Amino acid sequence: MREYVILAGKLVTPHRVLGKSYLRVKDGVIVEVGEDTPTGLPLSNTLNYRGLTVAPGFIDTHIHGYGGVDSNTGNAEHFLRMGKGLVKHGVTAFLPSTVTAPHEELLSACRAVKDAVSEWREGSARKEVPGARILGIHLEGPYLNPARKGVQNPAHIRGVSLKEILEYLGAAGGLLKMVTLAPEVRGALEAISLLVSKGVVVSVGHTNATYEEALKAFAAGASRATHLFNAMRPIHHRDPGVVIAALESTDVFIELIVDFTHLHPATVKFAINHAGTWRTVLISDAISAAGLPDGEYSLGGLKVIVKGGVARLVGGALAGSTLTLDAAVRNVVSLGYTLPEAARMASLNPARSLRLAGLGDVRPGYRADLAVLDDDLRVVATIVDGEVAYER
Ligand code: FE
Repeated sequence: MREYVILAGKLVTPHRVLGKSYLRVKDGVIVEVGEDTPTGLPLSNTLNYRGLTVAPGFIDTHIHGYGGVDSNTGNAEHFLRMGKGLVKHGVTAFLPSTVTAPHEELLSACRAVKDAVSEWREGSARKEVPGARILGIHLEGPYLNPARKGVQNPAHIRGVSLKEILEYLGAAGGLLKMVTLAPEVRGALEAISLLVSKGVVVSVGHTNATYEEALKAFAAGASRATHLFNAMRPIHHRDPGVVIAALESTDVFIELIVDFTHLHPATVKFAINHAGTWRTVLISDAISAAGLPDGEYSLGGLKVIVKGGVARLVGGALAGSTLTLDAAVRNVVSLGYTLPEAARMASLNPARSLRLAGLGDVRPGYRADLAVLDDDLRVVATIVDGEVAYER
């Protein structure tokens, strides 16, 4: 439909909750938001969600896979399929994330994502039922600290190579959106300067950085912290480390995995209450097993066992998650955060942290990327680019 109206029982934005309201959508863009009902509207041109809550679609900016697709080895068709699975969870955009791997594998992931993005755009122009928008690629590693490797394969963790970085930038064709690196690794500060100068967001992670080293990285342009607390030097009262450096740096976004396995609920509240709800970014860190039953999977060449939805390496270390952002939203709401706060953390902040224009909010000029939720915050429908991408 080129132009139509969505009737919402309740409209959640990152700023407020409106009661009965409407959105006018034209060519995939929100052109008007109003209370109650617009006048003079042919009923054939409405989507009626009067009994439901309409919210901005969730944006997952750290996700290694879903439904059997692995971001390291997926081809364009796999990423499109991943997007079609993610809309079941209200996710309207995602940033595929790789794990540490040989240079050639990461280069081919960059190329595959670039191809997937152009295929997504072509499909959208043909008005096909869309999957979630593919935003580009996040390279998590390979320039990490082996001392905080987590589930990153140590065989492929390596020193910074500016030459490799330039090749990733070339292969991704402008779609390398974020790199996670450990800032204490030799050459990392030069890498931060190079990446930031090319418009790439640098996130510190898998790091043993001290407080001082982390502040240097933020001063050099790093602007995000990868799954705060997980795979980084923990807080010690005489050694505050990267966690406290990130929490007190008001220009740094912090990622949190809110599945209540990676972080204790009290730790989640501690982090959000210190960073505030305007720079906390909910991520899934999901692996290919997300959306599939328990069993044996692999991640970056390592065997992963999923039991009760929790993914672990054979040694017991957590190996990513099977979390989806709709569940993360329900989890933060269960801790007492409001719906607008949840919309900030799951939609607006992911977009702002990657400087994605026109995504993550419900206001005129923004893409009509929406999640429709019931009273239990379960996803009833998902709209991507103004088209219904999923209906329960
Ligand atoms: Fe990850």
